Amino acid sequence: MKTTLKTDWKVEDICAGFEYSAAEGKGLFGLNGNLTIQPEYQRNYLYAQNDGEKEKAVIDSILKCYPIGLLYFNKPRSNEEKFEILDGQQRVTSLGRYIKNLFAVEVDGHQQYFDSLAQDLQEKFLKTPLTIYICEGAENEIKAWFKTINIAGIPLNAQEILNSVYSGNFVTLAKEEFSNSQNSNLYSWKNYVKGNVLRQDFLRTALEWLVNSSDDKEISEYMSLHRWDKNIDALKNNFVEIINWIEKIFTDTKDEMYGLDWGRLYNLYHEKNFDVAEVSAKVEKLYEDDAVTNKRGIFEYILGGETEPKLLNIRLFEESTKKTVYARQTNFAKSKGVSNCPLCAAGKNKNSKKIYAYKEMDADHVTAWSKGGATDIENCEMLCKSHNRAKGNV
Ligand SMILES: [Zn+2]
Repeated sequence: MKTTLKTDWKVEDICAGFEYSAAEGKGLFGLNGNLTIQPEYQRNYLYAQNDGEKEKAVIDSILKCYPIGLLYFNKPRSNEEKFEILDGQQRVTSLGRYIKNLFAVEVDGHQQYFDSLAQDLQEKFLKTPLTIYICEGAENEIKAWFKTINIAGIPLNAQEILNSVYSGNFVTLAKEEFSNSQNSNLYSWKNYVKGNVLRQDFLRTALEWLVNSSDDKEISEYMSLHRWDKNIDALKNNFVEIINWIEKIFTDTKDEMYGLDWGRLYNLYHEKNFDVAEVSAKVEKLYEDDAVTNKRGIFEYILGGETEPKLLNIRLFEESTKKTVYARQTNFAKSKGVSNCPLCAAGKNKNSKKIYAYKEMDADHVTAWSKGGATDIENCEMLCKSHNRAKGNV
């Protein structure tokens, strides 16, 4: 990786062309448009999560001639004098916002906006040189390095790092769609996709669904390969296809649908036909069933043909019920001289007369839950562990 230390850019150079209006969905730029400070549709979160003390500290440092630390810029294409901030977004944004009189800092006991500073202090502020490392290199090098630098402020998450490393057409277009809080589709997407749109969680999900993996490496490969694509059709179409599929099959939106692994479920079941009215009735029935303790499992259970009750985490028998049934079975078995496991008692081997201890047995639904059996004392029998395991179904 090639790094160049630059010390001749001053605050006024970096902030040249800086515009900030919270109402607009536009990106932030410096160096007369040649520096991307915050890409479009992303910037709100940075200060939404800050109390403003940090940005005041940046200004205070400059006015007191304290260093504000190294800034790291990425130069994505060696033949273009265009840069992106890898580290230092918040600091540079603070400088720009201060010059635009968007907040005041205390100077000699008074709150001072930039315009109200004495002329010589304004001049000093604008002429302060900044220390900047320009990085050019292979994507994997920048990525490896970027992960090791200690990022001040809000740590970037995995997808935000990938967006920086692979910044280019694809990321710009993808963010416009998937990290744009103004996108009206979000109302529907938020029912199924977990996370914060401004922290790239929706973009992350869209990528995971597309590459069928949540592995950073596979997502990196895709982003690298498509970095300069002129469209994001594949990403968008796949995402919309999955959302439409969910909405088509499950007509009633439930809270428990939020954040399920819909990409995997789509891959497994999208070719299967479902009777929508029947599905809806099944969902309602399972929602009303007290024995279903994991409501989030209902959707996969139905998609998979209702063969895996373990997805629903069916309520187990109460300890008191099991002890009562154990005592009843054991007393009866002893009086007959047979095993207290009814299945062992029916057999011919050495266990046919074995009396198991309570801890050697498990409770079983006589009529399986999936066949309508209740989780109550009438439907409970104790089996030895190996017979209970063999019986399997709940
Ligand atoms: Zn047995």
